[in-house]
Amino acid sequence: MPDRADAVVIGAGVIGAAVALELARSGRSVICVDKGPAPGAGSTSASSAIIRFSYSTLDAVLTSWEAAACWRDWAGFLGAEDPDGTARFVPAGNLVYLTPEYDGRAVLAAWDDVGIPYDLLDAAALQARFPALDHGRYFPPKVVDDPAFGDEANGELTAFYNGDSGYVDDPMLAARNLAHAARRHGAELRMRTEVTAIRQAAGAVTGVELAGGTVITTPVVVNVGGPHSARLNAMAGVTGDMRIGHRPLRQEVFAVPAPPGLLLADGAPFVADLDLGQYFRPQAGGTLLVGGTEAACDPLEWVADPDDFDDVASVDGWERATLRLARRIPGLGVPTRPTGLAALYDVADDWVPIYDRSNLDGFFMACGTSGNQFKNAPLAGQFVRALVDAAAAGHDHDAEPVRFRGAVTGRSIDLGAFSRRRDPTVTSGTVMG
Ligand SMILES: Cc1cc2nc3c(=O)[nH]c(=O)nc-3n(C[C@H](O)[C@H](O)[C@H](O)COP(=O)(O)OP(=O)(O)OC[C@H]3O[C@@H](n4cnc5c(N)ncnc54)[C@H](O)[C@@H]3O)c2cc1C
Repeated sequence: MPDRADAVVIGAGVIGAAVALELARSGRSVICVDKGPAPGAGSTSASSAIIRFSYSTLDAVLTSWEAAACWRDWAGFLGAEDPDGTARFVPAGNLVYLTPEYDGRAVLAAWDDVGIPYDLLDAAALQARFPALDHGRYFPPKVVDDPAFGDEANGELTAFYNGDSGYVDDPMLAARNLAHAARRHGAELRMRTEVTAIRQAAGAVTGVELAGGTVITTPVVVNVGGPHSARLNAMAGVTGDMRIGHRPLRQEVFAVPAPPGLLLADGAPFVADLDLGQYFRPQAGGTLLVGGTEAACDPLEWVADPDDFDDVASVDGWERATLRLARRIPGLGVPTRPTGLAALYDVADDWVPIYDRSNLDGFFMACGTSGNQFKNAPLAGQFVRALVDAAAAGHDHDAEPVRFRGAVTGRSIDLGAFSRRRDPTVTSGTVMG
C-alpha cells in the first residue's frame, strides 16, 4: 500500500466520505482514514437525517435545496447501486411554528428568492390540516418542574409549511454508500486508523502521522473529524486566524410511539417546534423521533473531550422530551421504558458550518456542522473539491471567495459564507441555523 496520496481525508462520516468521493472524482489519489470501525459510525450514525430548507441565509437555503436533489436521486448521484443497499429519501413535509424569537422572515425571504414553495398557516388552517396536533402557544419553552409548565395555552400558533422536505432512512448507510462510490473512483479507505499528528514544512502541509508511526505523505489534508475536528485543527496549529470557534455539544434524541394521525402513512410532517423547544419527525416502524432545539431554559452540555462523554440518554431528557411532546400531541401514549441515544454535534459559534481552507497551505476543513449538515453532505464534498481546486490554481479564497454554481438552480453559492474568518452570521442561534 503506498503511503502517499494526492489528498488525505480525515474522517469517513457522511461528510468525510462525500469529500473523499469528490476528490477522487477530480482524478486525485485519495486516502480516507478514520479511527472508527466503519464509515458513518461517528456522529453520522446518530443523525436524525432530516432534509429541510429552513435556514436563515440565502447561501444556506440554496445549499440545502441543491443537496436535496442529490438525496432524491441518490443512486444517480452516487453513479452506481451499492450492492449492500442504498439509503432512501423519505418524503415528509416540514411544519415550522413561528414564535416571538423565530418569525421565519429571513427563511421565507430566501425561499421567495429561490422559488421554494410554501404555505402560510393560521390557527384555523393548522387545525384543518394537522388535527392530531394541538396548535396552542405555550411560549416560552419551560423546564418540566417550572410551576408554569402545565399552564393552559396562551394563544394560538401560526406556521409555515413546505412539502418538499423529508429525511434519509439510514444515515450510516448513506455514509457507506458514499464510501463505496469513493472506492469505485479509486479512493482507499483505512478504518481503525487514527491521525495523531499533522506534518508540515515551510507553511504547507506535507502529510499525516498515524497511531503506530506510519506517515502518509500528501500535499492536501482535509479535516472532517466531526466532534473531533477542533482537536485536529489545534493539532495542525491552524486555529490562530479563525474567527469562528467550534466545539462538541452533547445531544439526546428519543423515539416514542406515534399516535394515529401522526404516522408516516398519515402524511405526518417533520415539526420544528421552537414554541416548546424541540423538533419531531415520523419514521418507519410507527415512532416519532424527538430532539431538542436549544431552548433558552435548557442547559447546553458542552463536552471538553469528545472521547469521554456520557453516551447514554438520560431519564431527565426523556421526561422533558415526552412531557413537552404530550403538550403538542394530546393523543401521545408515553411508554414507561425510555428509548433514545446521546451523541455529539460539532457546534460553530453561529451554528453555520465551516467549509474552508486554513492558514496552513494544503490543510482544509469541513467542520462546525452544528447538528444540521447531514443534509448538505453531497454539496459539502463538492464545496471542498472546489476549494482544493481553487488553491491548486493559485486562487486565494480568503481574498476572493470561491463561488459554487448549483446544478439545480444555476444559482451561485458564495463559499465565503462558510469561511472560518467570517463575521459570525446572524442565525436562529440554534440547530435550525
Ligand atoms: C443527534 C444528532 C442529530 C442530527 N440530526 C440532523 C438532522 O436531522 N439533519 C441534518 O442535516 N444533520 C443532523 N445532524 C448533524 C449531522 O449528522 C452531522 O453534521 C454529520 O453527520 C457530520 O458528519 P461528519 O462526517 O462531519 O462527522 P462524523 O460522522 O462525526 O465523522 C467524523 C469521523 O472522524 C473520525 N475521526 C475523528 N478524529 C479522527 C482522527 N484523529 N483520526 C482518524 N479519524 C478521526 C471519527 O471516527 C468519525 O468517524 C445531527 C447530528 C446529531 C449528533
